Order: sequence, then C-alpha cells, then structure tokens
Amino acid sequence: MPTRNYLFYALTNSVCSQCLVKVEAKIIFQDGCVYLVKHCRTHGREEVLIADDIEYCDILPTLIQSTE
Ligand SMILES: [Zn+2]
Repeated sequence: MPTRNYLFYALTNSVCSQCLVKVEAKIIFQDGCVYLVKHCRTHGREEVLIADDIEYCDILPTLIQSTE
C-alpha cells in the first residue's frame, strides 16, 4: 500500500452525518479529489468526498464563507 498523501486546505464547520452535532471539519485534497474530514466526539473520524475534480477548489472559498 502506498502512503496516502494529502494536502490540508482549510478548516470549516460541518455536522456529523449520524448525530447531526456541529463538528469541526478539515477540507483536504487527496488523490486529486476533495474531501471533508469530520471529527465527531461520539462517532470519530468521517471522510466525505465532496468533489472528484481538484478544479473544484476554485469555488471552495465561497463554500466555506457560505457556511459561516
Ligand atoms: Zn456523531
């Protein structure tokens, strides 16, 4: 298994998909895709694919601002 390298992009807020509690989330680029990595105190780490095209990063700042 090759090491999975990822690039941290931004910190934002999201909600756990299981308990819907507000959690801190990191946006990362990995393998050309964009993921949201959430950390719920109850359910732990959750990785959500939000885009399979890294070009999508152009609109991410807008997305992050809209959630605040
Ligand atoms: Zn949870």
